[in-house]
Amino acid sequence: SSHPAVVTVTGAAGHIGYAALFRIAAGAMLGHERPVHLRLLELPHAVSAAAGTAMELDDGAFEQLLSVDIYDDPRAAFDGTDFALLIGSRPRSKGMERADLLQANAAIFAEQGAILNDVAAEDLRVIVVGNPANTNAAIASAHAPDIPAERFTALTRLDHNRAIAQLAHRAGCVAREISRVTVWGNHSPTQYPDIFHARVAGRSGAELATDRTWLEDDFIPTVAKRGTAIIETRGASSAASAASATIDHVHDWVLGTPADDWTSAALPSPGVYGVPEGLVCSFPVRAVAGRWEIVEGLDINDFSRARIDASVAELAGEIAAVGDLLPA
Ligand code: NDP
Repeated sequence: SSHPAVVTVTGAAGHIGYAALFRIAAGAMLGHERPVHLRLLELPHAVSAAAGTAMELDDGAFEQLLSVDIYDDPRAAFDGTDFALLIGSRPRSKGMERADLLQANAAIFAEQGAILNDVAAEDLRVIVVGNPANTNAAIASAHAPDIPAERFTALTRLDHNRAIAQLAHRAGCVAREISRVTVWGNHSPTQYPDIFHARVAGRSGAELATDRTWLEDDFIPTVAKRGTAIIETRGASSAASAASATIDHVHDWVLGTPADDWTSAALPSPGVYGVPEGLVCSFPVRAVAGRWEIVEGLDINDFSRARIDASVAELAGEIAAVGDLLPA
């Protein structure tokens, strides 16, 4: 549809937000026909940086960009919003334990979920990028009882895209020749990029997977540890690729996945593939008429099962660690 979309970006002055905003404004996310109102939410200390980004967005003279507004109040920023890109989250600071980080973020996402429940548009769609993304999405959803849980998603598209890139290098082909890759589980090093159902330049992924040394010692760890490798090489965490994957996620959610292919997104489990109901887990998904549908019935071999189970166990542990922030 071509009615204007209200898009709220949190952490808008951060590295990922900065890269995402220009592509949203240019029509890469919702198509070139759809006008956009952009809302930039930041913490008070970063509002000025967001205002500077808004000046640059102005200077892009983007044809379909109707407005850019800056907020430090989530209730105002989310009022009537159609798309909430939850990129801002609390980074780990020195001496902070993992459990403290989970708690700090759970508090942020509990508040944002409750506010979205009160003020967002009827057709709200949420993509959580801020880590721990899967659990943050679960917490936000738990605090938004009036919004269907399936509208709360977390980003694993970057992991999916990284897997495609590695396969393309391996096979000497381009990304377009690769389909049906799946990332399962958590957006963390336990994630499992599954190529057993993939098609790679006319070959089956299962055939590539017969080289277990490559699969286990090269492909899987390269994809799972790519974020760390980028920090070590670039001297800063991945930002443009994370922004690009966020755009891909929302684009496909709204405009559909290509025929004969699927992608990966983290959604609340309806209890399929042995993933306990409610855990926000990455699955193979197609988007049909603006809704994600999990691709069901894939044969999961023992190799895959063990890896999926390990990542799902980690997700269950994260939820247990923030249990007191889940409403009874
Ligand atoms: P980035 O824009 O680089 O990253 C934002 C979040 O995305 C982080 O949680 C980061 O996780 C996560 N992320 C998920 N996937 C990836 C990936 N593949 N590569 C890199 N990051 C990934 O962070 P900045 O610090 O530059 O910006 C964050 C902004 O958020 C700040 O401007 C801050 O003021 C704001 N903020 C807003 C809040 C709010 O609106 N309520 C709350 C807290 C912060 P990780 O940390 O694990 O890299």
